[in-house]
Formats: sequence, structure tokens, C-alpha cells
Amino acid sequence: MLNTMLKKSQLRNNIKNFLFKIIYFKNYFTGPGNFDGVKILLYHDIGKVFFEEHIRYLKSKYKIISLSQMLKNYEKGLEMKNTFVITFDDGIKENFELLEIIIRNNFKPTIFITGYVNSDLKFWFSGLSQKKLIQFLNLENKSRLKKIKSNYVNKRESLNHIEIEQMKDYVDFQPHTISHPSLIKCSIDEIKFEIIESSDLVNKISGSVPFAFAPPFGIYDDRVINFLKEIGFKCCLSIKPGTNKKNENLFELKRIGIPKHCDLFEFVSRIDGIWDKIRKLPLLKNYSSFYNQFYEKQS
Ligand SMILES: [Zn+2]
Repeated sequence: MLNTMLKKSQLRNNIKNFLFKIIYFKNYFTGPGNFDGVKILLYHDIGKVFFEEHIRYLKSKYKIISLSQMLKNYEKGLEMKNTFVITFDDGIKENFELLEIIIRNNFKPTIFITGYVNSDLKFWFSGLSQKKLIQFLNLENKSRLKKIKSNYVNKRESLNHIEIEQMKDYVDFQPHTISHPSLIKCSIDEIKFEIIESSDLVNKISGSVPFAFAPPFGIYDDRVINFLKEIGFKCCLSIKPGTNKKNENLFELKRIGIPKHCDLFEFVSRIDGIWDKIRKLPLLKNYSSFYNQFYEKQS
């Protein structure tokens, strides 16, 4: 039984990798697709070798701009084409190792940080299965906080102040809440606390006023958007995949997720946009994204 399951998952994996190669070579021979608008990449943790490959690929074929430059272009109504913005959620400590690649390639990514910065704690959601995580996300925030207390483990996973200090001239830091909750399970007071406190944190470490917010797990509602607008934020980044077009809603910016062990074949397939379509096929349903799984569960 276990053997058959393993074989099946191996087969699916082989099919997936084969598809990535087909898409990569299609791009290689026909040239990468031109597109109107901006694609924002969403990383969490990524190895140096993979990251360098991704950046080299993007720089050879496209343009990388900062999030703030993108917003300026939107404000001026400038047309954007074949343009990428690089973002990271959570401020994972391994991001520090990418600094050298960032400086050498002269682009400015955005890192969304939480209250875990400078703490010795493991992220509460770290290592949870997708199923378990979704169970937690369906709890009211107070119950979640009570439940996860016992899960706190001393194992630093976030950037600390020394690392941030060295990165802040080359990286744009923006807020991603304090406790990384599901904001739709928070009261309005909890929402305000999470946004204001994490904005203060960013302000303290970078010296600049934050303008962009990324809700944890990409989960948020109108209360979050209204409050962000009220206190002067310029945009909010979701995890809905896709390309941001000319008249995009800046409080619902789309992002393309790039996972940890993403080789160039997979990277090209993901930024091409086609992977998000074919992963919905029944054969590949095991690879459906967190975004799809979470929102399917809700509806
Ligand atoms: Zn996050």
C-alpha cells in the first residue's frame, strides 16, 4: 500500500519536473514571453545558488525594479512592461546570506518582517502540515494564541538586529504583523495592534515610514484595507498569483510564489504563469498552492 503510494507520488513528481523542462525549453527557443505590467515574486527562504540563477535569468531578459519605484510608476501612470519586483515574507534569517548577491546585482528587494525579528523563537507555523496549518487558521485569534504558546521553541528563525543593520541600505523592510495571525480571525483592535506595532518596528530599524503591507498567508479583509488606507499605506500585497496590470488595485497586488528548492526549470515555469494553470489538473492536484487550498476550503 505504502509502496504504491510512494510510486504514485514519484510518478507525479517526475511528470511535474518533465513539464517544467518542456516549459523552460519552450521559453528558451521561442524567447521568454513579453508581458504588460509587473510580476511581483514572493520568496520566503531560498538557497544562494538558486537565487543567483533566478536573478541572472531575470536580468538577462527582464527588468527588476524596487517596490517603491513600482508605486511611483503607478502614480505617474507610466506603462510598465517585462518588469519584476522581488519580495520576501517573514524575514527568515537565511535571507541574510543573499545580501552579497543583492549588492552585486544592484537591485532592491523588499522584506516583510514580523515581531519575531531579533527573537530566539521558532515561527509558530513552521513545520506544520498544510492541513494542520489550515486548522489553526480557522481558530479565532485568541484561541490560536493560547494554543501556540506551548509550541514556542527556542530556535531562532528570523533575522536579528545585527543582520538587519547590515542589510538596511540595500533592502527595503516593510511590516508583516507582529504575531503572524490570520487577520480575518482578529478583532479590529487586534488588526490595528498588529499593523501599528509592526510598522513601528520597521520604522525603528530602517528609519523610514512604511508604505507597504503584506498580510500573513495573504489572508485579509476590508477592515484591514480600510485601516491601511486610513493610516497612509500605499499598497497591500496578496498571494493571489498573476501579473499586475495598468489599473491594478494597489491594495490587492498579485504575487507569484517561488518555493525553497526552485531550480531554473521550475522558476521559468512559475514566472511564465503557466504552472498556475496546469497545477489545477487532477493529476497534479497534490501540487495545488496554499492559496487555492485555503480559498477552496473557505468556499
Ligand atoms: Zn508570512
